[in-house]
Amino acid sequence: MTSDVVVVGSVNVDLLLTVDRHPTPGETLLGGSGAQSAGGKGANQALAAARRGASTGLVGAVGDDAGAAVALARLTAAGVDLGGVATVPGPTGLAVVTLARDGENTIVVVPGANAAVSPAVVEAAAGTITAARVCVLQAEIPLASATAAARIAAAAGVRVVLNVAPAAALPLATLRLADPLVVNEHEAALVLGWAREAEGLSAGEPPSSPSSSSPSPTEGGEVTPEAGLDLARGLRELGIPGVVVTLGGAGAVGISSDGEWTVPGLRVAVVDTTGAGDAFVGALAASLARGAGLHEAARDATRVAAHAVQRLGAQDSYPEKDEPLP
Ligand code: ATP
Repeated sequence: MTSDVVVVGSVNVDLLLTVDRHPTPGETLLGGSGAQSAGGKGANQALAAARRGASTGLVGAVGDDAGAAVALARLTAAGVDLGGVATVPGPTGLAVVTLARDGENTIVVVPGANAAVSPAVVEAAAGTITAARVCVLQAEIPLASATAAARIAAAAGVRVVLNVAPAAALPLATLRLADPLVVNEHEAALVLGWAREAEGLSAGEPPSSPSSSSPSPTEGGEVTPEAGLDLARGLRELGIPGVVVTLGGAGAVGISSDGEWTVPGLRVAVVDTTGAGDAFVGALAASLARGAGLHEAARDATRVAAHAVQRLGAQDSYPEKDEPLP
């Protein structure tokens, strides 16, 4: 069966605990609230793509525990094809987020079933991957598996959207299959440094533009579009065909066959930015599958992500197909 988008990635249960303050080692505290929700970058991005109207499939794994149903319920409701999601012995991936009153959070992620998404599992899903227009990958499954999926997709002419989150030292050969590579400013700086090191270039060598290659925050703590473009140029110079750098509230910048571009962030009342990056990537993939250019797709993704930051949670905050966007 053909699809617009296939996501090969992680599926988690997120457990969000609120506390007045974080406990010190050995201390027991009473929390304010505790809630379970569906998460994992792969699942979030698949939902975001499906909610933009893309026929979407997910390749990944859940455990044989009660968490699996929690993790997959919303994807099923959105019509995501879960035929590529294996059930393996053990727990579903789990992210425990502890949020203190001052806004500081701590996060512990237990990969659980996501660690079982081996290159062999990806190979077994090759038919699903090659039947899609766009293949979306992140770094919450074993890196060898993300690389295997990128190779299978690219060899079949399927466009690879590679979101290197969390930041990971993927081989340059894998990064070069991405069109686009999507990274936030921190990931961009790390990936650029590692890739240059692997190429034997000085990690601090500036890209062709005169300004700095490390992100320089504005007063609001955001990176300027110019600093983001510098990072994108550096990555592009390594032979990556398309690059998008997301800049939080400042929007996104990119380089592609349509040249260099900037999409300003939309001014909205921010409630919770959790999962905004995944909303962006899923929506971007859906637009690319429809045939949009990268710049146009990034404009649409910025509107979807701006919608998402106005609501609590990750998947809970993603717009339905017909919801108006900012
Ligand atoms: P996260 O890890 O929080 O999911 P991220 O670090 O991967 O996100 P960001 O660059 O923070 O990615 O955000 C992704 C996109 O979400 C941005 O490009 C922007 O379009 C939107 N966004 C994020 N923060 C805001 C904000 N404060 N106001 C408006 N849009 C935002």
